Amino acid sequence: MPTMSAPWATIHKDPSRFPISPNLVDYERMRRTYRHDTFAAVGRLPGGAGVNIAQAALDQHLPEAAGRPALHWRTRDGRRVTVTYGELAERSRRFANLLADLGVAPGERMFVLLGRVPDLFVAVLGGLRSRVVVSPLFSAFGPEPVRQRIDIGQGRVLVTNRRLYERKVAPIRDQLPSLEHVLLIDAEHDDPAAGTLALASLLAAADPHHEIPPTDPEDPALLHFTSGTTGRPKGAVHVHGAVAWHYASAAYALDLHRGDVFWCTADPGWVTGTSYGVVAPLAHGVTMVLDEGEFDTDRWFDTLEQERVTVWYTAPTAIRMLMRAGDEAIEGRDLSSLRFVASVGEPLGPAGVVWGDRVLGRPIHDNWWQTETGGIMIANFAVADIRPGSMGRPLPGIDAAIVRRGADGTVEVVEDDEEGELALRPGWPSMFRGYLDDPERYASCFVDGWYLSGDLVRRDRDGYFWFLGRADDVIKSAGHLIGPAEVESVLTAHPAVVEAAAIGVPDPVAGEVVKAFVTLYPGHAPDEDLRIEIQTWARARLGPAVAPREIAFADDLPKTRSGKIMRRLLRARDLGLPEGDLSTLEVAP
Ligand code: ATP
Ligand code: MG
Repeated sequence: MPTMSAPWATIHKDPSRFPISPNLVDYERMRRTYRHDTFAAVGRLPGGAGVNIAQAALDQHLPEAAGRPALHWRTRDGRRVTVTYGELAERSRRFANLLADLGVAPGERMFVLLGRVPDLFVAVLGGLRSRVVVSPLFSAFGPEPVRQRIDIGQGRVLVTNRRLYERKVAPIRDQLPSLEHVLLIDAEHDDPAAGTLALASLLAAADPHHEIPPTDPEDPALLHFTSGTTGRPKGAVHVHGAVAWHYASAAYALDLHRGDVFWCTADPGWVTGTSYGVVAPLAHGVTMVLDEGEFDTDRWFDTLEQERVTVWYTAPTAIRMLMRAGDEAIEGRDLSSLRFVASVGEPLGPAGVVWGDRVLGRPIHDNWWQTETGGIMIANFAVADIRPGSMGRPLPGIDAAIVRRGADGTVEVVEDDEEGELALRPGWPSMFRGYLDDPERYASCFVDGWYLSGDLVRRDRDGYFWFLGRADDVIKSAGHLIGPAEVESVLTAHPAVVEAAAIGVPDPVAGEVVKAFVTLYPGHAPDEDLRIEIQTWARARLGPAVAPREIAFADDLPKTRSGKIMRRLLRARDLGLPEGDLSTLEVAP
């Protein structure tokens, strides 16, 4: 395996220049002293009545912070609407009462199919406070992915708007016998013939008083579907007690402080957009930016600048799109408010980290987690030096190891500097409690007391983790195990390459060889000279056994709607194999 740490200079931090003291000051010490009950008070209901996410997100701040902005909502058409903690709490109380009026019981499931609008927060928090299990769906899903998920979850209630309902739900409603109530946020009247209710008038009529009922920390709260990068999406169940980890991880890995203006760019239809786009920031009492619009370079830089964002949590795909726009897009802008930038979801690669440092004046802190883990597990911290390309070190309270599965159904923990599957010792509060209707698959994630993540990594001698690829994407060539992420890190460091995806293609001698697909920065012609140049670049850095044998230029790479490159699809297409589940594939609208 090539060693990726060498060619990238470590980014050193100078604590004397930090504008405020980070929450995590001494990593080693915090790892020794942290206990999961450190934040057990987050979301605790008065009188020993358990823990509820809505208590953490809203009620704990009231009445003192009723006037504090919870959301600055930037609408698609350029308006800006502020919603305070008090307003959000009141609307969520009405919503909870409305659910009770409809006869929806704790534990039953409610789906939310909305764009990034404040009503989404009202529904999610209103559902949580009444102990209804909430499942946010990505609004760009087509009818079939919507049907599939509501069916798996046996949803009884759906909150959406007229347009989404007509396009995505009406055509398949008769296939969803569990779905009894459809609440439309923008309908003026109930429509008994269509079977829809007008949310606004029901909310206006609902009782604004509501006390959160006793909630067991183990009561299910959220149902999140995975991105479907490797196959059929799985529904992961999360509990109310998870909020302690949402809070702790946002303190340590995102360095959230009271007074921050926080922008999480992930859609709440994915776990990142809920754990860190709804729950954690509200639990910290910060002000969030909520952008209804789609990605657009100027729009995003405007948002950072005008909202004076201090902490920004985004994803590699977005960062690469900003990189592609060139430095001109950022010239003359005042981004001095930014204190901390983090990224998740995909390998960021050293080029992205270094770009942040050079162009934003802030390195990008990569971190790692999954739908299943409910919160951040491995991260680069504000206080710590960054080794570009590494996803950092485990958070306090997180026990991570690298293992190899044996033939006898056991696992063996491997040494530093060797590759293997990333395994975590269960016990942190936001760990999922099951895949809905798939207990066997859930059980198969646990071996010898470890949760196996399905991702291959390496750990260096200083404890930094390096992502190699998903176990399913790993390339086996002439006895070597090649992680696509390592190859892609080198390719994206070439000045002409924006994005890269490496796959294995069959080879009679080596078994498999690496083939890479790359997209280019504007101004570079996809010609033979450039192909040879990139190949030479890769060979010099990876060696001939690991460097791609073949490089193909692409205009775009297939991605999930959450922005992850679908290597399995690239490979299937390249080899003429069946394409598998494409419900989360991003397609031009
Ligand atoms: P599915 O499980 O349905 O195939 P998915 O794994 O993409 O989909 P998510 O739970 O949204 O669904 O994504 C988690 C995965 O994303 C991780 O297991 C890992 O493969 C990848 N990932 C997340 N963060 C990082 C990161 N910082 N670097 C590299 N990969 C990451
Ligand atoms: Mg996964």
